[in-house]
Amino acid sequence: MRIVITGGSGFLGSHLCERLLALGHEVVCLDNLITGSVDNIAHLLGHERFRFYKHDVTEYIFIADNVDAVMHFASPASPRDYLEHPIKTLKVGALGTHKTLGLAKDKGARFLLASTSETYGDPLVNPQPETYWGNVNPIGLRGVYDEAKRFAEALTMAYHRSHGMDTRIVRIFNTYGPRMRPHDGRVVSNFIVQALRREPLTVYGTGAQTRSFCYVDDEIEGIVRLLLAPASPGVHEPVNIGNPHELTVMEIARKVLDLTDSSSAIDFKPLPQDDPKVRRPDITRAQKLLGWSPTVSLEEGLRRTIGYFRTRAAPAG
Ligand code: UDP
Repeated sequence: MRIVITGGSGFLGSHLCERLLALGHEVVCLDNLITGSVDNIAHLLGHERFRFYKHDVTEYIFIADNVDAVMHFASPASPRDYLEHPIKTLKVGALGTHKTLGLAKDKGARFLLASTSETYGDPLVNPQPETYWGNVNPIGLRGVYDEAKRFAEALTMAYHRSHGMDTRIVRIFNTYGPRMRPHDGRVVSNFIVQALRREPLTVYGTGAQTRSFCYVDDEIEGIVRLLLAPASPGVHEPVNIGNPHELTVMEIARKVLDLTDSSSAIDFKPLPQDDPKVRRPDITRAQKLLGWSPTVSLEEGLRRTIGYFRTRAAPAG
């Protein structure tokens, strides 16, 4: 297949490019490099089935020749990033989804939207099945990301229903692994970098809030299975892909301290506005539809991620 990936030089996008090339596909990677980095795809640049174009997908996208699939992964995704780029986040979710759907329609290509567990907001149901409509503050600080992705889902379903397009929607839960940026502000990268530098770990609030962390290889496997699954009525509905192993933020802090053998203290900071109190995917649909479940344990995934950061986040001092 010839596959266009927007946001292809970001954390998930670059892993996706790599996996699809390994499966024998041709990959066209688009990225405006606001939060993505060419470093993530430097090793792919000479590949004969890989092309990279610096392009902002809120603008018209021109691709010569045929396209078999379009995967829309462009968006700031870390809270720190979308709080810094609120309007760009809304635009890539709205205008960028419109442009990428238009491209897929024009080419007769399959479309896959990278959506998010943030569509559930601060959920009143735990774990979250795809049938849960969520609890989102539209005018809160996080609303720029949550509502952009909710609009993107609505637009994707409208193109599916109105134009008969073959669309898929993955709701991605917290994912970690190599190529997270040391300063992207997310909890796993923050804690690992802080622990390696023997700096205090910044726990927001009391640390009693929960998240469920999926290792990047598992996440990519689930996403690729959803892309390649044969068309069926169920495949057009959103599918949660994440690891249901739920921990409190304090438990993650302790795990990271343990695995890095660090003596860092804990520094409690204010809880950001609308920070979800719980989050855990119900993955029954992915298991039934795709035969997918995560396989990498938190301990193993953290060891690999710590190994990656050891080579990049040099100890301070
Ligand atoms: N968090 C924290 N310390 C940090 C970064 C994040 O305690 O240095 C908390 C944050 O408040 C949230 C959880 O960790 O409850 C996950 O945050 P992250 O930014 O990784 O992603 P989110 O799931 O909120 O999108």
